[in-house]
Amino acid sequence: GLTSAHRPAATRTTCGYCGVGCSLDVVTSDGEVRAVLPARDGPVNQGHACVKGRFAHGYLTSPERLTRPLLRRDGRLEPVGWDEALGRVARGMRAAVAAGGADAVAAISSARATNEENYLVQKFLRVVIGTNNVDNCSRLCHSPSAAGLTASFGLSGGTDSFDDVERADCLLVVGANPVEAHPVVGARLMRRVLRGAKLVVADPRAVGLALHADVHLRPRPGTNVALFHGLAHVLLAEGLADEGFLRERVTGLPELTELLEDYPPDRVAAITEVPAADLIAAARLYGRALRPAIVYGLGVTEHLHGTDGVRSLANLAILRGAVGTDRGYGVNPLRGQNNVQGASDMGALPDLLPGYGKVTDPAARARVEAAWGVRVPERPGLRIPDMFAAARAGALRALWVIGEDVCATDPDANQVARALEACPLVVCNEVFLSETARRADVVLPVASWLEKDGTFVNFDRRFQRVRPAVSPPGEARSDFDVVRALADVMGVDLGCPTPADALAECARVTPVFAGLSHDRLDREGDVPWPCPDPDHPGEAKLYKERFATPDGRAHLTAAPYLPPGEQPDDDYPLVLVTGRRWAHYNSGSMTRRGGNLALDPIDFLDLHPDDALRYGVRDGAQLTVESRHGEARLVARVSEQTAPGQVFCSFHFPASGVNRLTSDHADTVTSCPEYKVTAVRVGAP
Ligand code: SF4
Repeated sequence: GLTSAHRPAATRTTCGYCGVGCSLDVVTSDGEVRAVLPARDGPVNQGHACVKGRFAHGYLTSPERLTRPLLRRDGRLEPVGWDEALGRVARGMRAAVAAGGADAVAAISSARATNEENYLVQKFLRVVIGTNNVDNCSRLCHSPSAAGLTASFGLSGGTDSFDDVERADCLLVVGANPVEAHPVVGARLMRRVLRGAKLVVADPRAVGLALHADVHLRPRPGTNVALFHGLAHVLLAEGLADEGFLRERVTGLPELTELLEDYPPDRVAAITEVPAADLIAAARLYGRALRPAIVYGLGVTEHLHGTDGVRSLANLAILRGAVGTDRGYGVNPLRGQNNVQGASDMGALPDLLPGYGKVTDPAARARVEAAWGVRVPERPGLRIPDMFAAARAGALRALWVIGEDVCATDPDANQVARALEACPLVVCNEVFLSETARRADVVLPVASWLEKDGTFVNFDRRFQRVRPAVSPPGEARSDFDVVRALADVMGVDLGCPTPADALAECARVTPVFAGLSHDRLDREGDVPWPCPDPDHPGEAKLYKERFATPDGRAHLTAAPYLPPGEQPDDDYPLVLVTGRRWAHYNSGSMTRRGGNLALDPIDFLDLHPDDALRYGVRDGAQLTVESRHGEARLVARVSEQTAPGQVFCSFHFPASGVNRLTSDHADTVTSCPEYKVTAVRVGAP
């Protein structure tokens, strides 16, 4: 018979691609993944999974995996041992501190990494270096959700369990394409529609769900705030608001009522290009539903006024009394990355500690200082875009980039490359030799999600276990082990010898996670936060008694519509929107190395037939796309999915140069880039 090494075994873990958090059973034998099966008892996926979670694991055994640390010598990256690599990092960080103080060092933590790794990274910066210069890639996607939802309701997360969507009778899906980007959520939403729920889709593109919508609103990119105010105007004008709820649980109604006088449907139609009749029809569907639901994505956040967008969208649920009650499914962001929620929950942020205590709050600092035995600086650290600016100015002298290909995925890529060139020490934890790793001084090979132990937090705030199905290749180690080892080399014992210990320490210093532990998750499967003690089931639905704002009330916002940072003109007449496609994930570094590449082998620039005619573009033609910031090469796909005057491409094939096109305009509150509005022109190469 087979020996135990050859016998197939299954490991239950959580998908490491999008933020839905599907439970997967990973079948292995001889140390390799043979199949990935969706778990029938998975709390979110209920037996389903998408083409990414199921099939995109070929990258694990790619010959391009990094298996040894690399050190730059005479301009070339050369393999070295871990001691030499970590010694170089430690010396470089010490030199940076000696030259510029603790704030001359910064780290970009990862929404791909586990909670325990994010907890340890922020602890390293605050304890070993003595700076708050730590941020994570949620800065580039859902930081406006964090800021907006906190301001409106009090906590930085979606308001409800996704299970409640099964009872919703009207779905308002905004700026999201879940059929491609979050397919298991897309399928559950679709199932709800087939069972009779009304569907309003607000998205400039004819995304998959829009084909089944009762009303499809197609706002001009960058006009969300006006659109949401237009919907709110109709809710108030037609008596569709919940007056009792507004009286008892809400602040800010007089200011919003006054503002909304400026947003009647005709004026909103002029700003957004959404017909007034469609706006009114959508508002009536949402306003007359018994249990309306809002689900939204990056089409709301990645704007110059993304936080205003989140808050203005939240206004709709507040006006309807559809949040914090059983009369609706609140306001819920779809997270693009597996652990966007968790990376911020763990305090990998320049202004917030684990559990969202402000670094400026002495009581929040005191909680972690007592556990860590150090003073935490009270001045907030640098956000990711500010880190690059500081590097270009010579003030940032050591940058540690963990699991993010900033040269490929951050906006205005030419400026990012200049920042890395100017920074004396760039360290990169990576699975492959990414564009960022190619520019680093030290590259540290690390494990990927199928090789890790820890937890993720999904889009509806569920903690779920992540378990290693296979071992990382060669000398690659988990980010968790790398952070601990570097601290050791720098003479500091970070504690937390295992991921379970790290979550236990986090639970001790953060009241909202106090009831969480690996043991409990191993027994129960998933537990949502807030979870204040081990006997508490966790709060799947928030704000049933009171909102978590200082006055306990939901806060309406009266933010006026302001135009986007980029505007088309005669030179750059088209508006580029970037987003996701079905088979690939983010920069594509994993999904392009395996069978998924055959499903979606190249990226396209989608453009409307009218524009194809106007600019003389044939379907399948090679195109040069130019913006005010840079240039990219893409293949044309003529499609009515994109509205006239707009073009669309993904960010899964960064070699095309898409992020050389995008600007450095960013949300005025959180610095989230304005990825969704870039003025471009197209031409022959
Ligand atoms: Fe993974 Fe998201 Fe697909 Fe589920 S829907 S299998 S979490 S990528």
